Order: sequence, then structure tokens, then C-alpha cells
Amino acid sequence: MTTAASVGPIQTEGRTEHLYPVLTPAQVSRLASRGHRRRFEQGEVLIEPGQPAVRIFVVLDGTIEVIRATNGVEELIVTFSHGMFTGEGALLTGRPTIARIRGGEAGEVIEIDRDALLTLIQTDSELSEILLRAFVLRRAALIARGVSDEVLLGSTHCSETLRIKQFLTRNGHPYTYLDLDRDADVQALLDRFRITAADIPVLICHGDVVLRNPSNSQIADCLGFNEAIDQTKLRDVIVVGAGPAGLSAAVYAASEGLDVLVVETSAAGGQAGSSSRIENYMGFPTGISGLDLAARGFAQAEKFGAQVMIGKAASKFDCVALPFAVQLEGAGRIAARAMIIATGASYRRLALPNLEQYEGAGIYYGATFMEAQLCRGEEVIVVGGGNAAGQAAVYLADSGSRVHVLVRSGGLAESMSRYLVRRIEGHPAIEVRVHTEIDQLDGSGHLERVRWRDNRSGSVEDRDIRHVFVMTGALPSTAWLDGCLALDAHGFIKTGSDLSAEDLAAAHWPLARPPHLLETSRPNVFAVGDVRSGNIKRVASAVGEGSIAISAIHKVLAEQ
Ligand SMILES: Cc1cc2nc3c(=O)[nH]c(=O)nc-3n(C[C@H](O)[C@H](O)[C@H](O)COP(=O)(O)OP(=O)(O)OC[C@H]3O[C@@H](n4cnc5c(N)ncnc54)[C@H](O)[C@@H]3O)c2cc1C
Repeated sequence: MTTAASVGPIQTEGRTEHLYPVLTPAQVSRLASRGHRRRFEQGEVLIEPGQPAVRIFVVLDGTIEVIRATNGVEELIVTFSHGMFTGEGALLTGRPTIARIRGGEAGEVIEIDRDALLTLIQTDSELSEILLRAFVLRRAALIARGVSDEVLLGSTHCSETLRIKQFLTRNGHPYTYLDLDRDADVQALLDRFRITAADIPVLICHGDVVLRNPSNSQIADCLGFNEAIDQTKLRDVIVVGAGPAGLSAAVYAASEGLDVLVVETSAAGGQAGSSSRIENYMGFPTGISGLDLAARGFAQAEKFGAQVMIGKAASKFDCVALPFAVQLEGAGRIAARAMIIATGASYRRLALPNLEQYEGAGIYYGATFMEAQLCRGEEVIVVGGGNAAGQAAVYLADSGSRVHVLVRSGGLAESMSRYLVRRIEGHPAIEVRVHTEIDQLDGSGHLERVRWRDNRSGSVEDRDIRHVFVMTGALPSTAWLDGCLALDAHGFIKTGSDLSAEDLAAAHWPLARPPHLLETSRPNVFAVGDVRSGNIKRVASAVGEGSIAISAIHKVLAEQ
């Protein structure tokens, strides 16, 4: 009997003992108590691709093969033997499996269903670590090797292609990308599916269904992202938005026994998910990528039993009476006894096609000590004419940079506080360029060159500048609330003691007690993170507020 994973044509790289661990007899017997033994025959299919991931198998005897099957062609990914177990990231989400699980040498397994497995993960810390790590690493390995039937046909110059790439990547779904501008063989695929240039980007889902420029919601439906979620169930709490604030609320709610459903229009992680390295979040001295942080938070929330509905936007809030209901864009309605709004804000971005490529690598949305260190002694650009831009310009200039402030309008006076305008005008290291906009970014890896344009004359100038601070403000994602909650002058949600007597009177606040910390002008509805008026726009504060809201949710649920 062998106890090593024999790996097929798709090779594993490093960390094999974590990807394919061999359990000890004691660990196998703890797993056995959660499932039942069953025999299997050689060639017997135990799970077909596309079926929801609802069980794992622990091999006692014989071997189990994991097969990638595409258009009738089979490829062996890995063979499991005694003490090894099947399963990958889809187990945590209940999404459809990607691979076929089939008997190799006939033998016996322990079959454990997903619910029993999730219970075990919450109670057995040793097995929890082994299983979670293997599932997450296996999903990462599948992504790295593009093991899936999904093929995206698009163009690097097309923002919709970028959106779909981001949606699949940030949701950890492997896919093969064919670039119409570069891959000559793509024409055959286009002909096969009768795809015209107007249909691009196209996603071929499960190697079969052709989606022409699909929305996130259509992709989520085709890939079965939310199949395991019962939309008819009344939840204790719905969290809208799965950025750091929403994920934190989900982790604390689920770990404290609340039935929580999170709705996310794009992918877990929010703005933080687009940060290449977060260096100021406590506990990660060398920094952590936003994607990594999001993946960990997501896995943690699901481990505790939170459900996360992906690719679905909350489009309307029925807030008048309990239970609250949220309408989902397209179709669907979910209900709960309490709500947490964690829809964040989106930084106004520059309308440049390759902007994203330099975000965190020359394009920044905040000027803190860290960024100032990065560009000390260099020329930098601050884009914007508001106070945030003014403060950034002065701070960066004081820290040793030579600063160009670029404003679209004719001057700073209309949008910036007078004291800042004076400081900028009097600062030898700051130059203000009015009627000026960036129209091109360049560089391999890091930003290296910027072209700016005079929006009156149309004349352009190229400069070797490696750092651009975009300080053009953030827009709160509150339009969908449609008058349900009191907002501040900029559209952010007011909470707790920030709600004035007039706000509460206008909202017909019905209770004798004042709103709790983070509670909005409507009882049982909380707002956390960047969407909240007065919030400090940082990952740590978003995470903190998500956890604080849950302690108040316990109180309001007890009041009902
Ligand atoms: C490029 C970049 C780098 C950053 N770097 C740092 C850093 O290094 N350190 C730091 O502390 N902070 C950093 N920040 C700020 C930090 O990311 C934010 O403060 C934090 O993400 C806020 O978290 P949040 O959950 O409140 O909101 P968000 O992160 O904005 O998440 C909100 C989520 O709600 C979803 N959503 C919105 N509307 C709806 C709807 N109607 N229905 C369903 N879902 C919806 C969005 O898709 C999103 O996923 C950075 C921000 C950016 C953009």
C-alpha cells in the first residue's frame, strides 16, 4: 500500500505535503466518526464535474483518481491512496465541483457529507487546519493551471474583458483566456460558436454554454456559485457587501451563532481586494495582498457557516417593516430580521485603460507615511482640487517630493480650503497645473512615464514620473437604499450619535432608546466601513466596525 499522492500529467509544485496530506490513523478515525464507510469499484464515478461539492472521501483502501474531463478527453490530476482525502475550495462554498472523482484500484472510503465536515472544521482545530489549508491550496493550484472548462475570449483593450477576468480571478475560478488580438487559433472557436466581433467578450461556460458579454450575475448563475443558498429562508442578519467590513461582520455573526447571509455584487474583498499589498494591517508586518486577505476572510466566514451570495447586487431595500427584504438585481428577494450595510465606496478612478495595472505600483489613493517614503526625492503628481488633494500635496512636498498638482478646472480656490491654497501657492516644491489631465500611463511592471494634456489647447507633455496620487474623492455605494436611511451631505450613511434630533424625527425613529453605535436612522439596520459617514477609510477600521455591529445585532434581535 502506497501513501504518497501519485500525481498525473499536471504536476504539483512544492508544498505537496500540504496539498495532499496523509492523515494519521487517529485523524482518520476522527473523520470516520463523522461519515460512513463505503466500498467502490475500479472505474466507478463517485462525483461528476458540475455536481455541487457536497461530500469528501477519505481513502482507507485502494485508490481514488481525480480527473479533468474536457470534451471527452480525460487528464489525470492526482491519485489518492490510504489516509488521503478528496475535496478542494468548492467544498467550503458548496459550488459545483470542477473535476471527476473516480475509483482507481477498487477499495473502501469514508464518505463524509459537507454539513458534517463543516461541523468538524469548527470543532477539531487540528483537522480544521489540515483540511482548510489543503482545500485552499488545491483551489489555488487549479487556478494556476487553468484547470476548468471555462474559456474567456476577449481583448486586453476592452474594459468588459477586464471586468470578467477580475470577476473570475477574484472569485477563485480557474479559466483559460484567449486574446483575440494575439491568439491566431481563436477564429476556429469563434466559428464553432457563431460568435461575431460585436459579442466580445464571450465566456464559454462548462465548455458548452456561450455567454455573450455576460453580467457578473449571469456568470455566477452559469457557474452555479450560489446554488447551495436557500433564498427563501428568513435570516437573522443580511450583510450587503463583502469587503473587509462585510466579511468581518459575517465572521463574527456566524461564529456567534447567527444565521447570516452576505450579498456581494462582485467578489469578496471589496476595494481592499484590489490592493497589491496592504502594509498597515496589524499582524502582517511584511504586508498582505488584498486578494489573500479577502480569500482568508471568505474561507473563515464560510468555515463558521456564513453563506456568501456572489455576483448579486442588492438593488432595493424594503425597509418599512420587519422582516426587512432586499431585492436582488435581476431576480430574487431575501429577507432578514436585521441588516448590515457594508457596501463601501468606490474611489473615483481616472478613465485610463491600463490604470488598474499600476494601482499600488505607481497609482495610489492615499498619501500616508508609507507612500511618502516610496517617492521621497522624486517628482510626483497629485490629481484633484479638493482638500484631500491639497493635504496630500503639502504632505508629500514636506516629505521631500517635488509635487505637480493637476486640476481639470481653472484653479484650486473653488474646491479647496483657503489655508491649503495659500500653503500650496507658497510652497517651493509644489507646482499647480490647471486645465490639465493625465491621458496616458506607461511602464513595465511599475509606472514609469505619464503623459498629461492641457484640456484647452490639447497640447501634451510626457514626463518620467513614477508616482501618481489620485485624490478625486470617493463615492458611497448608497443609491440603492432609495431614501431608507438618513445620509450626510455626501451620501454616506449617518449612524449612532451622528444622527441629529432632526434626522431621527424625519426618519420617524420609533423607539425610546437612541440608536446604538453604528445603528442607522432605522432600528435594526447598521452601517459599517467606508459607506458610513465619518468612517476612517482603512481596512482595520472596516474590520473593527463589522465586529462591533454584531454585538449590537444581538441586542436588537433580543428586543424583537
Ligand atoms: C487601491 C486601494 C488600496 C488601498 N490600500 C489600503 C491599505 O494599504 N491600507 C488600508 O488600511 N486601506 C487601504 N485601502 C482602503 C480600504 O481598502 C478600504 O477602506 C476598505 O476596503 C473598506 O472596506 P469596506 O468593506 O467598508 O468597503 P469596500 O472595500 O468598498 O467593500 C464594499 C463591497 O460592497 C460591494 N457592494 C457595493 N454595492 C453593493 C450592492 N448594491 N450589492 C451588493 N454588494 C455591493 C462592493 O462590490 C464591495 O465588494 C485601499 C483602497 C484602495 C482602493
